[in-house]
Amino acid sequence: MMVLVINCGSSSIKYQLFDMSNESVLAKGLVERIGLDKASLNHKPAYKEGTVISANIENHSIGIRMVLDALVDKKIGVIDTLEKIAAVGHRVLHGGRKFSDSVLIDSAVMAAIEECVELGPLHNPANILGINACGELMPGVPQVAVFDTGFHQTMPPHVYLYGLPYEAYEKYGIRRYGFHGTSHRYVSQRAAQLMGDREDLRLITCHLGNGASVAAIRDGKCYDTSMGLTPLEGLVMGTRCGEIDPAIVPFLMKKTGMTPDQVDAYMNKKSGLLGLSGVSNDVRDIEEAALRGDERANIALEVYCYRVRKCIGSYAAAMGGVDAIIFTAGLGENSISMRSRICHGLEFLGAQLDPDKNAIRGKEQEVSVDGAPVRIYVIPTNEELVIARDSIEICSALGKVDKTADKPQAMEKFA
Ligand code: AMP
Repeated sequence: MMVLVINCGSSSIKYQLFDMSNESVLAKGLVERIGLDKASLNHKPAYKEGTVISANIENHSIGIRMVLDALVDKKIGVIDTLEKIAAVGHRVLHGGRKFSDSVLIDSAVMAAIEECVELGPLHNPANILGINACGELMPGVPQVAVFDTGFHQTMPPHVYLYGLPYEAYEKYGIRRYGFHGTSHRYVSQRAAQLMGDREDLRLITCHLGNGASVAAIRDGKCYDTSMGLTPLEGLVMGTRCGEIDPAIVPFLMKKTGMTPDQVDAYMNKKSGLLGLSGVSNDVRDIEEAALRGDERANIALEVYCYRVRKCIGSYAAAMGGVDAIIFTAGLGENSISMRSRICHGLEFLGAQLDPDKNAIRGKEQEVSVDGAPVRIYVIPTNEELVIARDSIEICSALGKVDKTADKPQAMEKFA
């Protein structure tokens, strides 16, 4: 049974086709620059040569049509007919207060996603375009929405409320929502498995990519997370400033004459590691510059690590302790030096990194000293697999697909 996982951005579509009999990826790819010049589809089948197709891709519907055509193409395709696709799973950025779990998409769900556009103005409209396009091109195939905010809906009110007048929450829904939920869910569940299928755990998951967030997870449920109403809050990120004094916003606007949109772009696109270092948003470039003696690059890395370390410490306090710290996403999985820099100073908590075990990239491994009271893990995230699993579970529970029809096959990994 095949599940197509779709992640639509404002000008892009990422996709993966899963064979759920063994959870292997048959093909994946990326449509880029939708509605712009030099648009293209980069299609990578698992066991064949990949290809890049340049075309005029005016909208998401044309992009998804190209993806479906590629999947069944005689040369580069991986299935003979689209009828093999039992369900489509969509990553949807913002589910507001409405969605704590993934759902089968119907007209009421679409209306609710539409209502959340105000909270996710860049992503939710693109997610809606993708869902509509799949509905048109694959009529009758069930579609499931998996929300980036969903996992964090278990946060209690004293955690998700800001210290603003209560009416800001009641009237406008202003509160902490949190993002990267599928990733925090995946790596926390995997850590719980690795720790002997325990549920009574206090975990701190660090999703450190270009966007970055930390979550405190108690007994399998999210208790707190660093992103807020939008993904701008919390850690210093690739190009986002993270937590700042809110008075800086009107101060900057008065000083520079920036409009609300301009100050939003300043904080989202020009700040963070990029803005601090003046080098790049990519840790690899900044580390190179720091090694050459660039002091701004070095301080940018230290600001980044300090914020993560401080967040880990505060979440340990919030949960009354911590059993494991998990690193994931581009930087968390791959940067040996940044993991080491972040953990330096956490020994008082009982978290002690083993330098030899830590010398790995992109691989699942415990990296703490044997016997240390707090374990530290590197666990590569897999948000797409969570979306595919949720899609099958929901469609099967509602009688939309028969997952027992699948015969398990040997599993092969497609990196
Ligand atoms: P993501 O958004 O999860 O794809 O993460 C992208 C970020 O991960 C990049 O901007 C880098 O800062 C970081 N990253 C990826 N690979 C490495 C690596 N080998 N060493 C250090 N940082 C890395």
